[in-house]
Amino acid sequence: MAKQSKKSPSVDNPGKVLKRSRYTKAETFAIFKRFHTDNPEPQGELDYVNAYTLLVAVVLSAQATDVGVNRATRNLFQIADTPEKMVALGEDKVREEIRTIGLYKNKAKNVILLSEQLIRDHGGDVPEDREALELLPGVGRKTANVVLNIFFGHPTIAVDTHLFRLGNRIGLAPGKTPLDVEKAMERAVPQEFALHAHHWLILHGRYICKARKPECRRCVIYDLCKSPEREVFDSIPEIAVRTRALAEKDNNS
Ligand code: SF4
Repeated sequence: MAKQSKKSPSVDNPGKVLKRSRYTKAETFAIFKRFHTDNPEPQGELDYVNAYTLLVAVVLSAQATDVGVNRATRNLFQIADTPEKMVALGEDKVREEIRTIGLYKNKAKNVILLSEQLIRDHGGDVPEDREALELLPGVGRKTANVVLNIFFGHPTIAVDTHLFRLGNRIGLAPGKTPLDVEKAMERAVPQEFALHAHHWLILHGRYICKARKPECRRCVIYDLCKSPEREVFDSIPEIAVRTRALAEKDNNS
């Protein structure tokens, strides 16, 4: 995942941070219903084979793309898919395997340290507990939330640069810090959509509501969006019309 933005979080009005969501409960429900209709089972884009390799992949993804991480871990995870094997492999070999990823020296060190800690404190297992995860070297709140969500099925919101931008840009979950946005998003997201909200928002921010220029013509929530950055068209884009119709049909069935 890419590095957290240090820019002002209120993209449309720098210097001013909204405190509350711009959307009513019904509008927020409609937004997530659209995401669900468009992509019922969203998937993360990091490759992994178990909780441990997911944890390592997320640690490696800081300031790196998922594609770049997957390229680097393809061989690494074939050699070492458990903490024990990773420690046996050693820091030098790990560093060599992941040398194409940014900050690889520090990351290799953390991978070995966290593997040793998993063996020592958790019998080699990845704990299903945020505090325990955050005690591991190289693991912060975002990484812990990703692992809890993707592997253990907790309805956590991991705020990366895309989710942080989106929460502020469209005013769904405004906040000055990633933790503010995480909490605001947890309050905003309807319970039935909580498990997949993290993925929908990250994918939407990564591929549609992009940092430099949102691709509003490809946006399934176009007519619901209240961002001042929303592009103005003569009519609602076809994708939004079609997804709205499908979502409403599903609501009424
Ligand atoms: S309409 Fe545009 S600004 Fe609004 S969420 Fe969609 S892509 Fe982002």
